[in-house]
Amino acid sequence: MKKILIIHTGGTISMQEDKRSGTVSTSNEHPLSNSASLFHHDAHIEEDFLFNLPSPHITPAHMLELGRRIHDKLAAGNFDGVVVTHGTDTLEETAYFLDLFLQTRKPVVVTGAMRSSNEVGSDGLYNLISSIRVANTDEAQDKGVLVVMNDEIHTAKNVTKTSTSNVATFQSPQYGPIGIITKQEILFHQKLISYESYPIQQLTKNVALVKAYAGMDGSLISAIHSTGISGLIIEALGQGNVPKGIIPALQQILDDDIPIILVSRCYQGIVQATYMYEGGGRQLRDMGIIFANGLTGPKARIKLMVALELTNNLTELAPMFE
Ligand code: ASP
Repeated sequence: MKKILIIHTGGTISMQEDKRSGTVSTSNEHPLSNSASLFHHDAHIEEDFLFNLPSPHITPAHMLELGRRIHDKLAAGNFDGVVVTHGTDTLEETAYFLDLFLQTRKPVVVTGAMRSSNEVGSDGLYNLISSIRVANTDEAQDKGVLVVMNDEIHTAKNVTKTSTSNVATFQSPQYGPIGIITKQEILFHQKLISYESYPIQQLTKNVALVKAYAGMDGSLISAIHSTGISGLIIEALGQGNVPKGIIPALQQILDDDIPIILVSRCYQGIVQATYMYEGGGRQLRDMGIIFANGLTGPKARIKLMVALELTNNLTELAPMFE
């Protein structure tokens, strides 16, 4: 039998509802503690209660600590796969960080729940058991960090939370799930064509994220610049364009050798330097702004934080985002 490690970090999957007020909060004892062993008999399971945090409280420092814990446990050689339970609000950021940080062929699966442990239709135990089944499967190797929720398997890179409350919230809008889970089978239908991993020791850089909007001027960007950022992510409009009023503020950031990474605020499609008008993608790229394809703003932020631990040279950074 394989040996699977579950690392708990908190989130709704660890919470309970107060029946009178309807509010949901953390409990001292994890409600799913030991449940996995009761309901899943095909693997030896060990549990590690690393954090008990709602995921809006998760910071990059927590992500790094979690990454190190997984690395150390896998390096010690006695686990075949890892399942991480996590709040869904920032799950995709932690999962993507782990994807960039870990260098393992073994399955690492992140999961959570939309309904807390004592709510009718709670999805926590179900998602946990599904995740253990995936982590226990040979086919889950070499696929990077996976997110398992609601009978679907997604890559950490593509998945995003799309609904505030629906149990089918996690979707990969551009590419779909890479596998599905049925009562009897774990079925993968896509292979990973590339894999990247960055051996960093710390995660300390201050990278800001700002969304472009109609009529935006440069004041917000200048204010962010004055806080002393190491990098900026801009969620641009459409294929990668911004209101012309923010160009001078962006130029000042570039003049200070601070990298700017551009993604789209659209949730599908890629950014490209198509438009020639002021604020259009062609001008932005000619200024030295780096276009990142296939990443949401929060994930581009995680990636730039990781990349900046290795270099702040624009020519070295650019290929990392292609
Ligand atoms: N607010 C919760 C959290 O992210 C949501 C959840 O876990 O589903 O911790």
